[in-house]
Amino acid sequence: MRNQLVWFRNDLRVHDNPALFYASESGESTIAIYIATPEQWQLHDDAANKIDFWRRNLQCLYTSLAELNITLHFFQVQTYQEVPELITSICRQWDINQLHFNQQYAVNEQKRDRHVVDACVQIDVQAQSYNEQLLLIPKSIRTKVGAPFKVFTPFARQARLQMQEPMVMLPAPKKQQAIKLARMPEELELTEVSWVSVENTVQKMWLAGEDSAAAILSQFYKNDIQSYEHNRDIPSVSGTSQLSPYLACGVISIKQCWHATESYCASSDSVTVWQNELLWREFYNHILIDYPQISKHKPWKIKTDTIQWRDNETELKAWQEGQTGFPIIDAGMRQLLSCGWMHNRLRMITAMFLSKHLLIDWRLGERWFMKHLIDGDLAANNGGWQWCASTGTDAVPYFRLFNPVRQSERFDPEGKFIRHYLPELSHLSNKEIHFPIKNRPEEYPVPIIDLADGRMRVLAEFKALSTK
Ligand SMILES: Cc1cc2nc3c(=O)[nH]c(=O)nc-3n(C[C@H](O)[C@H](O)[C@H](O)COP(=O)(O)OP(=O)(O)OC[C@H]3O[C@@H](n4cnc5c(N)ncnc54)[C@H](O)[C@@H]3O)c2cc1C
Repeated sequence: MRNQLVWFRNDLRVHDNPALFYASESGESTIAIYIATPEQWQLHDDAANKIDFWRRNLQCLYTSLAELNITLHFFQVQTYQEVPELITSICRQWDINQLHFNQQYAVNEQKRDRHVVDACVQIDVQAQSYNEQLLLIPKSIRTKVGAPFKVFTPFARQARLQMQEPMVMLPAPKKQQAIKLARMPEELELTEVSWVSVENTVQKMWLAGEDSAAAILSQFYKNDIQSYEHNRDIPSVSGTSQLSPYLACGVISIKQCWHATESYCASSDSVTVWQNELLWREFYNHILIDYPQISKHKPWKIKTDTIQWRDNETELKAWQEGQTGFPIIDAGMRQLLSCGWMHNRLRMITAMFLSKHLLIDWRLGERWFMKHLIDGDLAANNGGWQWCASTGTDAVPYFRLFNPVRQSERFDPEGKFIRHYLPELSHLSNKEIHFPIKNRPEEYPVPIIDLADGRMRVLAEFKALSTK
């Protein structure tokens, strides 16, 4: 019997991994590969922290696979175009019978995979792909008239109806027959790949490996999930799971997360709210699949493509660096820069501030987030940005606009979060800290915009659009 090849991408785990599991069941020996594509990472604005997180998780995966007699081999090409040729040469060299991989759904990845499958067919290698990224198979969730859902709430209702069956988790594969392979000239050690270096502090915040992800999930459902409904909006409290980096590169599966809510938690409103967040992830992925323009920098609401966004480098830079003079915005942006992660409430406030109050193109904000987020994910990031900019799937019309000062008073009433990231404001009272005027220290900027003016400007722009 010939060998099975598993191609790891953003599914860096051994448990509940269909490509790995079914490969291991199909033959006697299983070989694993990972192909780094540094130029493609740059084209996709992948953050240094995220790339480094992949590296650290690959190291853990290498060790876990070795215990199963599966060697993970590393290769590097610059872009996706070079992948089909590399894979066919691996298949020839190592006598591969079948290639197994888990699907990725963005346009470039789909195109790459089609070319790989075509190239495999040419050399008589079967290619098998699996859905592991989502709870529901793409295009399986439809309205009564067979159309994709455009709004989250009915999507989530339908998704729950279609998820009545107990979730099936796949175990780690059984130990494989060891196999000795001739080293390929293109092969690299993990350390020889063109990784990027990042700060140790961020590495310590986000420990790599399936065991770390499982421990975070277990800690969350034991201690935090029942207060999630209340705490999830308070950025000074660690009230959310912080599993997003692990989900984004598949160190934990979405099914493992959902399964935990059904198996280990007493059902409650809080658990339902957390499940809804998992369904937001699901929703934006289905939107990405059904509306491919999203992978090509286009708005979901095509009509909004004619909005006249302002070109203002100074204000964009102030926003990027957390120097807008609005403490909650600046604290959020500084959290992003120092942790590679930002709390969801702050992602919404900062995204609305840029795209609405400053009327700066949401794509610039989306890009900045992607360049810095350890959990950067095209579907969720684009979905979140377009929702905030009212170019996307928000069911509420364009006049939804969070006032950053009111949001700050509501969700960080004592300024605990602000004080942590903006120590220069720590002397201010709980009242002053949300919008410092009188006691503002010299080093802290004056507000870069009058919120009421910004609000009127964006509302006028969207109103004009609706009459075009
Ligand atoms: C402008 C903007 C940009 C965003 N960019 C990203 C991104 O690049 N990557 C990313 O994973 N999330 C993104 N989100 C969604 C959300 O902010 C993060 O998923 C969440 O903050 C991660 O923290 P957590 O793991 O503690 O989430 P929890 O609250 O514990 O939620 C559990 C999981 O559900 C998913 N989830 C939660 N909220 C959302 C949401 N609104 N949309 C999609 N999935 C969600 C995530 O996978 C998350 O890990 C963005 C939101 C906005 C408003």
